[in-house]
Amino acid sequence: MSGERIAVIGAGPMGLGVAYQLVQQGYVPVIFESDDRVGGMTATFDFGALDIERYYHFHCISDSAFLDMLKELHLEEKMHWVETCMGYYYQGKLQEWGNPLALLRFSGLGMVAKFRYGLHAFLCTKRTDWKPLDHIEATGWIKRWAGNEAYDVLWSKLFEYKFYEYDQELSAAWIWSRIRRIGRSRSNLFHEKLGYLEGGSSTLLQSMKSFIERGGGEFLLCSSVERVNITGSSVDGVYAGGKFYPFNKIVSTIPLPYILEIIPDLPADLRQAFSSVKNIAVVCVIVKLKKQVTSNFWLNVNDPAMDIPGLVEYTNLRPLGDQHIVYVPFYMPGEHPKYQDNDEIFLKKVASYLKAINPVITDEDFIRMHVSRYRFAQPVCGPGYLDTLPPAHLPVNGLWVADTSYYYPEDRGISEGIGYGRELAKKVVQ
Ligand SMILES: Cc1cc2nc3c(=O)[nH]c(=O)nc-3n(C[C@H](O)[C@H](O)[C@H](O)COP(=O)(O)OP(=O)(O)OC[C@H]3O[C@@H](n4cnc5c(N)ncnc54)[C@H](O)[C@@H]3O)c2cc1C
Repeated sequence: MSGERIAVIGAGPMGLGVAYQLVQQGYVPVIFESDDRVGGMTATFDFGALDIERYYHFHCISDSAFLDMLKELHLEEKMHWVETCMGYYYQGKLQEWGNPLALLRFSGLGMVAKFRYGLHAFLCTKRTDWKPLDHIEATGWIKRWAGNEAYDVLWSKLFEYKFYEYDQELSAAWIWSRIRRIGRSRSNLFHEKLGYLEGGSSTLLQSMKSFIERGGGEFLLCSSVERVNITGSSVDGVYAGGKFYPFNKIVSTIPLPYILEIIPDLPADLRQAFSSVKNIAVVCVIVKLKKQVTSNFWLNVNDPAMDIPGLVEYTNLRPLGDQHIVYVPFYMPGEHPKYQDNDEIFLKKVASYLKAINPVITDEDFIRMHVSRYRFAQPVCGPGYLDTLPPAHLPVNGLWVADTSYYYPEDRGISEGIGYGRELAKKVVQ
């Protein structure tokens, strides 16, 4: 019924996408967000007078839901596309990466391995149907196509330092969609083309928030939903900050593991399904430096002394005057003992890694460093992942639940979150 108030839990890109669409269709979203700001993983923070994302974000040519939203909010002129460079730090050397010539010149890999790697990557960009890859395990799939040598040199650290003990549990379809997204974001075979938004992702998210508020939507920040109340077979409201808010329709966009905490009354099979989804955490170090580390936006790393698969030199995409900003993400399962390491340990590692990659960098070049953590940053999407997920409209009247894994085989992303959220909202009010 138009004018109806609908609860949205979480104000990340998906929650904002849901709320935006609800407003467009004449409904009144009430958004509960535990943080003191909107954005979720894309939220910004004050990094020494610089308002910047806690985690790096870039955009690809194929980010259609994101680009559509920019258009609707008249923000297209804030979008900038840049021919970025990629590098590989391997065997103590910084090498060019990301185009066929760089692959040919790459030192530390045989010719046959290079050919097989290149062919596999190329065919991934041409593939459109992910279904044949859905039930295949990713590392075996890559080894069959690219061979063990290329896997060991170019892929193994990515799996090891992102997924640890879950590295054999990923779907080939999910990995394929990542290869394709980056592989297709190019101006030509030799140049990668990535995008950034003036002011960062928050330019869009704040604009979505304003649109939602103008349409009557309400944001309750610092309002963690403690419980979704179910009576009989229907929802009847949420508890947040000890207060009860009545609703007949509730849409949750928070990471699935939290669902088990806030909806304890779910049937056992649903609890089982949600509890079997594994998630990777991230400890992300952001550094402000006086000097550029390399000229690459993305730098892959395969080095026995570094427990990272790569790093992002953000200002090589989005210039910020004379400031040089680098993000160094340490991914790991939240249960891994390393996740308990204090911030100081990660800061020291990052300082030593950056100095090793570019020996010109000294301690005096580090202006500021900061550590952000997100416990449920990346779901582990295994073969046949969607078959294991309950439908977003749960068998409880008025209750919809989704998170970043619901648009499998696509990886989590701002565009996918907004697009999925908008489609979900249409179903909620159908
Ligand atoms: C290191 C890193 C790099 C990334 N790089 C890119 C990139 O380059 N490009 C790209 O497109 N995407 C990137 N992403 C992914 C992107 O940030 C996510 O896909 C997107 O933010 C997910 O949005 P979401 O709304 O689904 O979830 P989230 O952003 O996780 O939002 C969920 C929200 O729910 C809130 N919440 C949780 N529990 C409760 C509760 N009980 N009550 C109320 N609120 C609650 C949280 O505070 C949060 O705000 C990156 C992510 C990370 C971590």
